[in-house]
Amino acid sequence: MISLGCAKNLVDAEIMLGSVLQRGIEITSRAEDADVLVVNTCAFINSAKEESIEAIFEAHQQRGLNKRSDQKLIVSGCMSQRFARELREEMPEVDAFIGLDQVAQLGEIVEKLLRKRPTRNSDKSRTGVHGSMLNADGSMLSVGRRALDVDSDNGDVGLAFADTRPTYIPDYDTPRFRLTPAHSAYVKIAEGCNHPCSFCVIPQMRGKHRSRTPQSVLAEIRGLVSEGVREINLISQDTTYYGMDLWSAKAGPRQPVDSRRGPTLAALLRKIQEIDGDFWVRLLYTHPAHWSDELIDTIAQCDKVVRYIDIPLQHIDDSMLGRMRRETSRQHIEDLIHKLRAGMPGVTLRTTFIVGFPGETEAEFASLLDFIRRTRFERLGVFKYSQEEGSRAAKMPGQIPVKIQNARYRIAMSIQREIAHEIAREKTGRELKLLVDQPHIARSEADAPDVDARVILSKEAPVGEFAWRAIIGSRGYDLLA
Ligand code: SF4
Repeated sequence: MISLGCAKNLVDAEIMLGSVLQRGIEITSRAEDADVLVVNTCAFINSAKEESIEAIFEAHQQRGLNKRSDQKLIVSGCMSQRFARELREEMPEVDAFIGLDQVAQLGEIVEKLLRKRPTRNSDKSRTGVHGSMLNADGSMLSVGRRALDVDSDNGDVGLAFADTRPTYIPDYDTPRFRLTPAHSAYVKIAEGCNHPCSFCVIPQMRGKHRSRTPQSVLAEIRGLVSEGVREINLISQDTTYYGMDLWSAKAGPRQPVDSRRGPTLAALLRKIQEIDGDFWVRLLYTHPAHWSDELIDTIAQCDKVVRYIDIPLQHIDDSMLGRMRRETSRQHIEDLIHKLRAGMPGVTLRTTFIVGFPGETEAEFASLLDFIRRTRFERLGVFKYSQEEGSRAAKMPGQIPVKIQNARYRIAMSIQREIAHEIAREKTGRELKLLVDQPHIARSEADAPDVDARVILSKEAPVGEFAWRAIIGSRGYDLLA
């Protein structure tokens, strides 16, 4: 299993492996030993798609080099969901494409695929890298189509999922093989997104927002905590909208979290707080439109919820926010940041911005830089706008040349680098609670796994446990303890 992309895709990979194990199939970390390789792709932006395509070709090439041409190659994930038809034409090397609704059926699909061997990918002449070498006559994928049990009238396209938006959502008892360190886990509380952001194609790939029930999420967290997990990272496309799709009176895309109306993230956090055990919980991917005083107060009162808020803002200029269809405004965002910092003293704010969105003027970019300087986000990432086929923004006039995008990216990042280094230096002398990832590497509550900074420990500490350490200095983004 090669899983690319975000934590949400990683959870899908974990579920796919869980379903494989449930059927009594073994998992191996050595690709050359495997009878089936799965590339779990990402299609977030163009560079992610390129990386996914490279990974597929590389896996195919390796099976030739390892003389494992009987090995099956399955492609799953966002890119498969969205572009299965096109990919099937381009990549006859792939034995099966599976959609996001089929992640829990991988075991079954693998069994069916293996029963059909040998397939035409065992033909040695087909171990070249690019599909262009191959005669894509469609017969190659007949195995994949049958494996998916989706027959179509014309007997050609079995990729039924490519036309429908996914609806699957895991439950607490969905078999899962965790790929994260034993002490840290992702819990997907919802899937899909109801927002109309003009640059984004995720809703087209992942479908409408659908929340798991609070009971399901709590049962999963209880299980993880009882296994010794110390860090629970709550994820979804829009974590603050959690539960609101379950309200009897439907909540619109700008509605704030309000527990009087039905299940909410705030109510869920209060329940998580009641779970016995030594752990912390982190919120990732919150949307600025749904924050409310209730949610801020809840986090302030729940000491198991870390003071860390991941809140992608994408821009600050009102005209840009309008064109991006972000359903927020400068005023709303500035007020919200003020409330977050006042309501949760010491909170770490992480955000992301997009530079070079179509029509972004020098003045609009300058107002973003000014906002970055003034707000001093503790954590900040910058994306260069990516023109995504099928998105509204892709058709907008005023697409910005790559050279300008690169320059804007460099300027924004250099401003933030200074701010982040300064913030790190200010931590010297403080005593922090750390979660130890490796004997000499830990993270504070201000550091989400994989995306943020580290704390380098001079004296080793037990892995997977919390430790209190005094910060003695910093090195770039990292702290020294
Ligand atoms: S909130 Fe916007 S950017 Fe985020 S997944 Fe939904 S549509 Fe995409």
